[in-house]
Amino acid sequence: MTALDQMAPEIPPLLGDSGMYREAVNQFDRVAAYMGLDPNISQRLRLPQRSLVTTFPFRRDDGRVETVFGYRVKHVLTLGPTKGGIRYAPSVNLGEVAALAMNMTWKCALVGLPYGGAKGGVRVAPETLSRGETQRLTRRYTSEIFTFIGPQRDIPAPDLGTDAQVMAWIMDTYSHHVGHGAPGVVTGKPVELGGTAVRQESTGLGLAFLLPMALEMVDLPLENTRVAVQGYGQVGRSAARAVTRLGARVVAVSDLSGGIHCPDGIDIQALEQWTDRNVWVKGFPGADPIRGDQLFEVDCEVLIPAAIQEVIHAGNAHDITASVVLEGANAPTTMEADRILRDRDILVVPDILANAGGVTVSYFEWLQGLQYYIWTDDETRQRLQQIMTTAFREIKKVAGEENVDLRTAALIKGVARVTNAKLLRGLFP
Ligand code: NAD
Repeated sequence: MTALDQMAPEIPPLLGDSGMYREAVNQFDRVAAYMGLDPNISQRLRLPQRSLVTTFPFRRDDGRVETVFGYRVKHVLTLGPTKGGIRYAPSVNLGEVAALAMNMTWKCALVGLPYGGAKGGVRVAPETLSRGETQRLTRRYTSEIFTFIGPQRDIPAPDLGTDAQVMAWIMDTYSHHVGHGAPGVVTGKPVELGGTAVRQESTGLGLAFLLPMALEMVDLPLENTRVAVQGYGQVGRSAARAVTRLGARVVAVSDLSGGIHCPDGIDIQALEQWTDRNVWVKGFPGADPIRGDQLFEVDCEVLIPAAIQEVIHAGNAHDITASVVLEGANAPTTMEADRILRDRDILVVPDILANAGGVTVSYFEWLQGLQYYIWTDDETRQRLQQIMTTAFREIKKVAGEENVDLRTAALIKGVARVTNAKLLRGLFP
């Protein structure tokens, strides 16, 4: 290997080579066949409409210049501008981003938002970046995708490995390029820049709004229900806080450092203070340490995967003790595991419904950015609750009528809305 080879980034897989993309397409195909979808439409919806692949350099603190891969994919543009998060993770590739963009289309459609799905990302390990490196990488990535995004075109938001600060840098870079402040270009911004305080907690809050409705479907009470949460980032942390407020008991939490377990319930406020100081859950004095992979086996009624994709698979789906899986993460369950959970009568509230609270509050923030008009936090929470609970009721109804699981029902609803919109708009030219 030459010195040049050592410096070059590994070439990531393209669309067809990505297992995650194939899973997303297989899932869509299954539902399209069930719905008897017009093949002219299903052919179109299996593929992303626009994909941007970029490689770009950024400077490390020690002076080295590193080149990385960046992506932004728009699945369909039929319903309005596109919307979806940006992730910084070493796994990111075109197929992963395209799968997540497709997922976003169904999610936005089923809660009735005027967006198509999009997703973006940079293939980098965020924990290896200093604040300065993250800023330089973010600004260069924003320049690379500048012509692709915009308040009327495509609106990014935080996802794995990105946060409100990253959104602030994207907004600032974009605003410099267009010559005026453009708060509508991203959501999940800091409150000082037109973000909403509720966005930080929105995905967890949305999950919590659905928890009582899901428990009712399996005849379990809410009070003292035991919950295990995988991942303690934006989604996991907000979910743990919101379900605790409702009266449930979070008995186990994990992150990349490992897991913690306390059968009587973890003091979530104390855990927040601990992770504010120490970053990781590991070492938290109010609970026993467990390995990360033991989290699914902990005795509980509800499991909230809120970390990364494909963590529930054929190898561990039999070990899950929970009666309800509330999918906080995107695509945490493989299709094979989904079948196993169904056979075991475990109720799965699918990602495109369960974690839709994030994009819903993003939509509220975008509206406020376009109108330069601020809602109160209470107003935001109330509207979120109304949208989430209505979507759950509608999907439960479809599931009952069609005699299918919630994931299939949610996909049917999302795919039907996009299909109808496509037929109404017609084919150009
Ligand atoms: P984040 O980067 O803020 O947090 C991720 C957390 O998962 C961290 O605590 C990390 O340590 C942990 N983690 C990573 N790999 C793990 C593993 N193998 N086992 C246990 N823990 C692990 O990311 P986030 O924004 O909270 O996103 C989490 C998931 O939720 C992603 O799938 C994302 O696409 C999805 N999602 C996020 C939002 C949002 O608003 N941020 C909205 C909808 C869905």
